[in-house]
Amino acid sequence: MNTDFLIVGQGLAGSLLAWELIKRNIKVIIIDTGQENASQIAAGLINPITGQRFVKSSGIDYLLPTAKNYYADLGAVFKQSFYIEKIMLRLFNNPNEIESAIKRLSQAEYQDYLAKLNLVSNSLKNISTPFGLIEQRQTGYLLTKQLLTSLKEFFISNQCYQQTTLDYKDIQIKPILKWKDITAKGIIFCEGYHSTDNPWFSWLPFQLVKGEILTLSHSTSLMDNILNFGNWLIPLDTQLFRIGATFDRENLDNIPTEFGKNSLLTSLQSISHPLIKNSCLMGHQANIRPCTLDKQPFIGHHPVHTQLSIFNGFGAKGSLQIPWYCQKFAENLLKNTAIPTDITRYYATHFTT
Ligand SMILES: Cc1cc2nc3c(=O)[nH]c(=O)nc-3n(C[C@H](O)[C@H](O)[C@H](O)COP(=O)(O)OP(=O)(O)OC[C@H]3O[C@@H](n4cnc5c(N)ncnc54)[C@H](O)[C@@H]3O)c2cc1C
Repeated sequence: MNTDFLIVGQGLAGSLLAWELIKRNIKVIIIDTGQENASQIAAGLINPITGQRFVKSSGIDYLLPTAKNYYADLGAVFKQSFYIEKIMLRLFNNPNEIESAIKRLSQAEYQDYLAKLNLVSNSLKNISTPFGLIEQRQTGYLLTKQLLTSLKEFFISNQCYQQTTLDYKDIQIKPILKWKDITAKGIIFCEGYHSTDNPWFSWLPFQLVKGEILTLSHSTSLMDNILNFGNWLIPLDTQLFRIGATFDRENLDNIPTEFGKNSLLTSLQSISHPLIKNSCLMGHQANIRPCTLDKQPFIGHHPVHTQLSIFNGFGAKGSLQIPWYCQKFAENLLKNTAIPTDITRYYATHFTT
């Protein structure tokens, strides 16, 4: 069997890159272990303004419109909404944060993303807001699991999906690139955190971060907004919400822990006693974010075996970044255009033959 590209991994990165190539009439075969991955458990949050100093995420002015259009187009194809736009209420933790937010409100480039300031303490029902809050615009979350399920069904129905674990030893590079009985012009690794085991790309400086998320049911009256209080809370419907996420750089596995659960519940307790009292734990998941040393994605070709490529390193911002970067990488693969955040930046410092 012949294909243009073999894509390893059907997380958000591999799925959207495959979709982008198929749209451009390129033949792909996607392989995946079929196991739960980071994309499926992620909250899918898109939050343009982050940190204690309320800083705009790098590239947000082009990444966000691209992501919103991309998910809207996919929604139209699969006849469901994958991206849920919802106002985020950012709860202030101290007077310094209020000062930073007021400064940003006066800056023209922040007008699209910040809205009403509410410095009245405890103005929300059942949520403690001693320092008040600010409304953030253009925030929302991707229903990643639903999107990946729809895309998997599409790939299966187009006979371009195989559920299996790729063993690197089965790849033949010369005289022609081949995996088992499939010959390909290129193999693109979209393996998330598993790339640290990849013999051709493990030299890239990944900085993996484990994260845990809880899903709870509740019977407390709750506003229909995303809450950001250091951690975040997303109301899924009137009875279910998710909170997350922990950051753990030491224990790099996908096992949910008591420690992770308790730290999220303690954080929730700090803003709402009624919610804690009236909630019941429905789900607890853990996985690993493919973060990188310079917080930029890893996209590009192997320095020696240029038919082998990587599309990875989207860290904690996959939902925002992957739509724009998959378009840019598809252009590179077809027209040899420049790749933003090309891994060539690490050839000299990190690659050894
Ligand atoms: C707790 C948590 C919360 C998060 N919250 C957010 C958030 O709110 N917003 C956001 O944008 N991002 C969030 N993220 C990050 C987000 O999950 C990632 O940016 C994104 O999902 C990475 O997608 P990926 O496709 O690169 O990796 P993955 O989703 O991990 O997919 C990689 C796939 O490759 C497959 N694979 C690997 N090796 C092989 C092999 N040898 N053979 C076959 N298949 C293979 C794996 O099985 C997997 O399916 C969160 C992550 C975590 C863990």
